[in-house]
Amino acid sequence: MSHQSAPGFLLPKFKQTNHPHTHKYKTARWIALRREVLVRDLFTCRMCGVLLSEGRQSPRSAVVDHLEPAYLSPSLFFDQSNLWSVCKGCHDGPCASIEARHNDPSRIKAEKLNYVVAGHDADGRPTSPNHPWNRSA
Ligand SMILES: [Zn+2]
Repeated sequence: MSHQSAPGFLLPKFKQTNHPHTHKYKTARWIALRREVLVRDLFTCRMCGVLLSEGRQSPRSAVVDHLEPAYLSPSLFFDQSNLWSVCKGCHDGPCASIEARHNDPSRIKAEKLNYVVAGHDADGRPTSPNHPWNRSA
């Protein structure tokens, strides 16, 4: 079973836009919870191990991701045990790829937790040629 040969790293458009949870990301409850999760995870990507940065645009930008996606498991939106910290590179790469290929939330969660990045060098950069940071544009 290879996740890295899977085609397509982008979510289908309906999964990005057509679900009713977007407004929750603006609530004080979410902002506080997001912070708690980042602290719990020591500002480290749980998928590839890099130190996360603030901001939105860097591959290392911190993303607090729903293990079971909100569009499939809305009752877990504010459930800390369903949240983990990942970098934007992993969120837009392997996480999105896994979500695009499955519709069963528990399967998606299991695949994310089992996903292994090949490794990283002394600077924390992933060595896998399939990692989004290493794929040429
Ligand atoms: Zn990562």
